[in-house]
Amino acid sequence: MAERTCVACRDEADRDDLIRLVVDPEGRLVVDYRARLPGRGAWVHPRKACVVEVSAHPGRLVKALQVDAIDASTLEADLLAAIHRALADGLSQAAAGGALIGGNDALGRALVAGQIAEVVLANDAAERTERELRREAREGVPFTVSPLDRDALGARVGRAPLAAVGVLAEGASVHLRRQLRRLRDLG
Ligand SMILES: [Zn+2]
Repeated sequence: MAERTCVACRDEADRDDLIRLVVDPEGRLVVDYRARLPGRGAWVHPRKACVVEVSAHPGRLVKALQVDAIDASTLEADLLAAIHRALADGLSQAAAGGALIGGNDALGRALVAGQIAEVVLANDAAERTERELRREAREGVPFTVSPLDRDALGARVGRAPLAAVGVLAEGASVHLRRQLRRLRDLG
């Protein structure tokens, strides 16, 4: 396992659990979300406390990235945008792999049966819908509000508008579930 150190909390973590940051040729901070860009990188946990810490104390990045100065004021917004892009891909992957359950009746039945690992909500889902789904879900099933509205969520999984989709714990949903966890951690 390749361990890296978070520039904010100094804890070591697997690189898959951290986000890589680099500086582009113009000296701007860039979220290297897939950790593939060349050059010196710094790593940070994709969670609120660590991102806020780095934004407030960019000196840590200056040191880690060996630059004269850096503007980290848009880090949280940039990271959210990167997660949102990856989430859209993750939804498509999971849908193609049969790891999503859509439609209120089917989702309700799967929740009651304990088949659903987590639930993705459209950002315009009715409160009543969410309340009903939470009642049907087993304890500990996370609910995450996505950046997509019902139309966009439905379109991503190849269906009519959807207020919510259930995620099955399968290989096809691993990428999606990582993004959902990051969204919750940044919330
Ligand atoms: Zn950290």
